[in-house]
Amino acid sequence: MEKYDLLIKEVTLPGRGRVDIAVSDGKISRLRENIEAEADYTVEGRGKLAFPSFANMHTHVPMSLLRGIGADLPLMDWLQRVIWPLEGEFVSPEFVRAGAKLGVLEMIRSGTTLFMDMYFFEEEVGQVCKEAGIRAGLGFGILDFPTKVAKTPDEYIERARSFAQSLKGEDLVFPVLCPHAPYTCSPDTLKKVKELAQELDLYIHIHVSETKSEVERIREEYGKTPVSHLESLGFLSDKVLCAHMVWLEEEEIDIVKERGVKIAHCPESNLKLASGVAPIPDYLRAGLHITLGTDGPASNDNLDMLEEMSTMAKLHKGVSMDAKAIDAGTSLRIATENGFSAVGIKAGRIEEGYEADIILIDPQSPHLQPLYDPVAQVVYSAQSSDIDTVICRGKVLMEKRELKTIDEEEVLYEAKRWGERISSYLDRLQGSG
Ligand SMILES: [Zn+2]
Repeated sequence: MEKYDLLIKEVTLPGRGRVDIAVSDGKISRLRENIEAEADYTVEGRGKLAFPSFANMHTHVPMSLLRGIGADLPLMDWLQRVIWPLEGEFVSPEFVRAGAKLGVLEMIRSGTTLFMDMYFFEEEVGQVCKEAGIRAGLGFGILDFPTKVAKTPDEYIERARSFAQSLKGEDLVFPVLCPHAPYTCSPDTLKKVKELAQELDLYIHIHVSETKSEVERIREEYGKTPVSHLESLGFLSDKVLCAHMVWLEEEEIDIVKERGVKIAHCPESNLKLASGVAPIPDYLRAGLHITLGTDGPASNDNLDMLEEMSTMAKLHKGVSMDAKAIDAGTSLRIATENGFSAVGIKAGRIEEGYEADIILIDPQSPHLQPLYDPVAQVVYSAQSSDIDTVICRGKVLMEKRELKTIDEEEVLYEAKRWGERISSYLDRLQGSG
């Protein structure tokens, strides 16, 4: 008798009915009714719905420790008055590790198995991901101004190079180059990043065209729109992932299409920081590759992709006054398959030959009953507490809501301890101000 690594028994696959899913070497190797085989591990799927897990394509996970500070400020005030001073005071390998653990815990609980992260001390994030069994594309933010990580652009780039080399041969985590944005990186820095990306064959992950003021600043400095500016530097390709892209003009959409640039849409962060609404239905009509991200948990304020997906669909329906602007199936594809495929991972579909990145949803909660249209109801009504089981690359990370790779109590204890330290610092600041 055949033997698989993992067998999911009698789960309901929307559009297909009740099936068994057999997994070997991290991939879905067989999918049909009644697979008679042995397996190292069996998950009982009866009564649950199988969906692909989520790919959160833009975030700064360690910022989970700063969640809730400086609410109700626009982006530049929030960064300059709150976030950058706090990061200057607190960011360290220990901070990043504790923040990454909290973020990864939240992501597994909410069904995410891949995230693209940009922050400091990413080795710590990588270690947390390997222990937790979750995928991530990780990069150090590269800037023109000094931080605790480096003093000059060249130092940042060297740091990024050695980090990339340290991850060689890893299969869950991979290095990415993360120049922060065209307004925080000079043309010279961006060109050097591009050269390194070509030399080491890496993806680039960058913020572009997030706010109107950023667009004006780039126009003043370089006489071009942000995307045209990047194009003039030879920076853009199909291995570049641009977060936000709220304010693109017609000519920029053409460049993005021609170069095959990927977009990480972050609707909740753009709403909360009052940055604007990216015209995603226009981008979809133009054939652009759209993925979804939460952005950092301090500007969202969570890492919940179910909620992000629902917000995206409803936001664009409302803005365009077109109920079909982004339908449920498109939302789901943007939050899953489009994310994975943007970084060359064959996942995001439950089909033979795809990576086994799967969630099981328990539809027994009142807000999911009665169940007529599983895809629409998961997109518009499901909550992360309905996610019962999470599987990444064939490994079970959560089953019946119980975490298999993370000590939840310890992670929450540690996060609260950091919270107390940061709160007393904020109290002292207010006292002295
Ligand atoms: Zn961001």
